[in-house]
Amino acid sequence: MEDLNPFHIAQTQFARATQFVSADAGILGSLIRPFRVTRIEFPVEMDDGTYQVFTGFRVQHNNARGPYKGGIRFHPDVSEDEVKALAAWMTWKTAVVEVPFGGAKGGVICDPKRLSVREKRAITRRYTMQLGNTIGPTVDIPAPDVYTDASTMAWIFDTYDMTHPGSNNLPVVTGKPMELGGSHGRETATARGCIVCVEEAIARGMVDGVKTMADARVVVQGFGNAGSFAAQFAHDGGAKVIGLSDSRGAIMSAAGLDPKAVLAHKQDTGSVVGFPGSSQVSATELMELECDVLIPAALENQITAENAGRIHAKLIAEAANGPTTPAADDQLFQRGVHVIPDILANGGGVTVSYYEWVQNIQDEQWEPEVVDAKLRKKMTRAFHAVFNFAAEKSIDARTAAYALAVDRVARVTAMRGIWP
Ligand code: NAD
Repeated sequence: MEDLNPFHIAQTQFARATQFVSADAGILGSLIRPFRVTRIEFPVEMDDGTYQVFTGFRVQHNNARGPYKGGIRFHPDVSEDEVKALAAWMTWKTAVVEVPFGGAKGGVICDPKRLSVREKRAITRRYTMQLGNTIGPTVDIPAPDVYTDASTMAWIFDTYDMTHPGSNNLPVVTGKPMELGGSHGRETATARGCIVCVEEAIARGMVDGVKTMADARVVVQGFGNAGSFAAQFAHDGGAKVIGLSDSRGAIMSAAGLDPKAVLAHKQDTGSVVGFPGSSQVSATELMELECDVLIPAALENQITAENAGRIHAKLIAEAANGPTTPAADDQLFQRGVHVIPDILANGGGVTVSYYEWVQNIQDEQWEPEVVDAKLRKKMTRAFHAVFNFAAEKSIDARTAAYALAVDRVARVTAMRGIWP
């Protein structure tokens, strides 16, 4: 049986890259584990007057290159090991895209689909309160992740601000609403960065028979923040979006789907399923559709040893974190299927989070074009650095991205010296 524990997977990915990094073994040993794991239990009064106890985590993996940074996930399957993996991936991601942050992640075990807005706000406030000073504008800066959004960030900011009066607390979280210190382009940043990577891959000739985005047939798994905008941007570039899915099901249309119309349908009905003119396919069939670009934008472990051989895409761009297992990576690499790894492909989100943080500190708001131009430049540079290194060493892009990232974090660690 394949080991699908996300933290074990993150450690395997790390181990594969270390042979391409010349760093002290002790320093490398310190990078494979998180610096701090916080687990909190807190009661919340539910709408029906009962009390329910929730479990939350904040994992701070590494802060050698800057304050801890990473999203907060609300999902029934959140576990300590999942949050540890996601935190480690943040450390490597911030290093790959070269923003001066470390890596962290948070999560609360809950089912947001069964919670009212008031209950979600109460969970968010109590979780934030109990994290206390382990987060802060120069300490650890949360952001949105699965089933959290700009409203969640507004509540985190408010809770922190109420308990830390007299300071500019806006930089304590990113992904905030525009009216409350958010940045232009943050909501779309993860998808934008992912599509910039796809465009660069096409321009590099990595997708057989596809010369521009307009030639591409694209499938997107997950239709939330990352997935819906990725589908939209691919469509804007002229691509045919032939398959889409969410947690309730998957749809396809060989003629192409209009992501804006699908989004309107999802807003009306709660799912992409039933979109007029589409046919319903199973979640398995969606992943295996004949296409040029597959964008997993949902959860971990979607491409495994079991289904990797049946993936027909020529290019996989990981908008999600951890969608591909190491055994699947091996199979895809052998078959010549290119994978733009998560720590590169979805680095646009943390990049614009960094821009939001800088704007909050400077009390400024940058124009949308400024944010977009900066994001494109950073993503393009990171993309070619990773794929040039992969080509030079004849290795897969994930191992290349890890090697660059681990080298950067290890070098800064040695430069700072181990205290005391
Ligand atoms: P989201 O909550 O906005 O959307 C999640 C989507 O996934 C929803 O449409 C949901 O229906 C769908 N989904 C859930 N389970 C599914 C399943 N089994 N099959 C198909 N679809 C399913 O979350 P998001 O922020 O878009 O995050 C998606 C992924 O992108 C996660 O892996 C997250 O870590 C990653 N990511 C997000 C950001 C960000 O800025 N939001 C940044 C980097 C990486």
